[in-house]
Amino acid sequence: MSRFWSSAVHDLDPYVAGEQPKIPGLIKLNTNENPYGPSPRVIEAIQAAAGDRLRLYPDPSSTALRQRLAARFSLTTDQVFVGNGSDEVLAFVFAGLLKHDRPLLYPDITYSFYKTYARLFGVTVDEIPLDDTLRIRIADYERPCGAIILANPNAPTGVALPLDDIEALVSSHPEQVVVIDEAYVDFGAESAATLVPRYDNLLVVQTFSKSRSLAGMRVGFALGQRPLIVALERMKDSFNSYPLDTLAQAAATAAIEDEAWFCETRDKIVANREMLTKALLDHGFEVLPSAANFVFARHPGRAGGDLAKDLRERAVLVRHFAKPRISDYLRITVGTDAECHQLLAAIDQII
Ligand SMILES: *Cc1c(COP(=O)(O)O)cnc(C)c1O
Repeated sequence: MSRFWSSAVHDLDPYVAGEQPKIPGLIKLNTNENPYGPSPRVIEAIQAAAGDRLRLYPDPSSTALRQRLAARFSLTTDQVFVGNGSDEVLAFVFAGLLKHDRPLLYPDITYSFYKTYARLFGVTVDEIPLDDTLRIRIADYERPCGAIILANPNAPTGVALPLDDIEALVSSHPEQVVVIDEAYVDFGAESAATLVPRYDNLLVVQTFSKSRSLAGMRVGFALGQRPLIVALERMKDSFNSYPLDTLAQAAATAAIEDEAWFCETRDKIVANREMLTKALLDHGFEVLPSAANFVFARHPGRAGGDLAKDLRERAVLVRHFAKPRISDYLRITVGTDAECHQLLAAIDQII
């Protein structure tokens, strides 16, 4: 606290990111980063862009990248918005599209940045409890509201809703914006991007941080019809005209172009997730069915906080949320084969 702070700063409830400790030999399975590096073509593109051209401002509207994304999703370039990570895209979404007289709906257990942004931008919210099996029940969203945001797959549970459920939700709320945050969709859920041409109230948000292995470059995007995208463009141009630097634009464009690398690394992660799920079940864990690059699991005999601590002592970092309903769960990022085996060896010792 300081007398120099504006009142807005006192009222903030900042997001707490997973730790990024610099401990040698640490198995880092706490922030859902991709265990495989980006495509070699991405590295080449960054190197090629790292030259004299850096004295110039980047393309403020990231046109080449938006064209590639539009082609990939069979949309038009002006239906694509890009930002400095999907967290920034979500900030513009909260400020520009989700603040209304009636409350914003989202699950009680979901990406915790939603609460942070609601607080920052003064959005009234109604948190809808997940059911007893930690699933989203879309019938619970049939109530008066100003807008809805869901992560699909949800975080930190990893559970995905089928596309039919998403479409039912979008079509039953024609007067409200429905935002689907698809940060993990590539690992096993069906994207709602195909619905964008048919629903003017749908906005789909994705990121290059997870399935494209570019968390360090900070690139996210939104797909939607013009009125929604224009709102985001107006927010962006009132805040920062150049959210994506030259290197980030080059990297993300090259990442979209290397579909083979994307498929290969994604398939390895999905295979490791299935292997890890089975091994955890064999060790007596309950594991939610994951469509993401992490699993959400608890052991009936052990408190989540203790397990996380025991793993940390064995140089394995996982994410634990000291929150009601999920305090016994661990969120474990799917790593390489070697990382999964080290995790399982540590669990063998603990349990
Ligand atoms: C990781 C994540 C994001 C943010 O991704 P960035 O593009 O790195 O900002 C957004 N939503 C969910 C649900 C996430 O897990």
